[in-house]
Amino acid sequence: HMAGLIPQHFIDQLLNRIDVVDLIDGYVPLKKAGANYKACCPFHNEKTPSFTVSPSKEIYKCFGCGKGGDSVRFVMDHEKYSYPEALKYLAQKYQIEIAEVENTPEEQANNNRRESLYIVSAWAAKFFQQQLWESEEGKAIGLSYFKERGFRDDIVKKFELGYSPEDWDALIQKAIQEGFKEEFLEETGLSVRNDKGKTYDRFRGRVMFPIHNFTGRVIGFGGRTLKNDKSVPKYVNSPESDIYHKSKVLYGIYHAKQSIAKEDNCYLVEGYTDVIQFHQTGIHNVVSSSGTALTSEQIRLINRLTKNITVLFDGDAAGIR
Ligand code: ZN
Repeated sequence: HMAGLIPQHFIDQLLNRIDVVDLIDGYVPLKKAGANYKACCPFHNEKTPSFTVSPSKEIYKCFGCGKGGDSVRFVMDHEKYSYPEALKYLAQKYQIEIAEVENTPEEQANNNRRESLYIVSAWAAKFFQQQLWESEEGKAIGLSYFKERGFRDDIVKKFELGYSPEDWDALIQKAIQEGFKEEFLEETGLSVRNDKGKTYDRFRGRVMFPIHNFTGRVIGFGGRTLKNDKSVPKYVNSPESDIYHKSKVLYGIYHAKQSIAKEDNCYLVEGYTDVIQFHQTGIHNVVSSSGTALTSEQIRLINRLTKNITVLFDGDAAGIR
């Protein structure tokens, strides 16, 4: 599979554009120290700065934990990206057109379709948030539920929690009005088509938990009902799609990855709200396999960050299994 190969001249062009001090200062505030810059290391816990950035050599180096390298390496270390992921991230950040090896028309079409699924998912997350914070229904039902659970506003915003209105097609209507194609709503499972060919919103009258991938893009949703009606499932999740594969996703990984690496441990909990409650108490190295039994792909994802997992499951039958 040739897609994803990035030519060297592009990498050189990218590195030429990046000022290592400016880049790293965006993550860790740097202080001038002679010809170099210093900060407390973002990769290990320390009180006196041993993390140094050299603008002349265009590198960073930590004399505490030994991490060091160029701008691409920094992004790999900090964001836990692979080499091509880091290049793509930097290309986007510095607005340089990425020149990948030519894809076949079929590959290109698939990439475009997947990109559309990402875009409509990000848009839907915004829609649900707007409903939560601005609509009367969202505030009265959704926001008051989160407040009852004791979730702080900053945490609700950090996890982009939202509310999907009770209507049959509030999201569909708004999406069409904004020019989205219905096929992408269906493919991401935001809408459902019934036997008679009529479409309606999958998540109705639910508080919404967007699920982010490793690089922070929204790929799916979990929606929790606030009704006591036993015939209504408590949680509804996005179905599998080209961008959402349940077995390869861990809820919270995007918000946890830096902390998992830094603490060299990953807490594994059962649900969305567990992850959020941990964050609220200041523990950030936590993810959830949410709804599925733990898979080897999920363990591999954690393995990029640490070898240590602490499992915190309920003592009921499902948790033990
Ligand atoms: Zn260090």
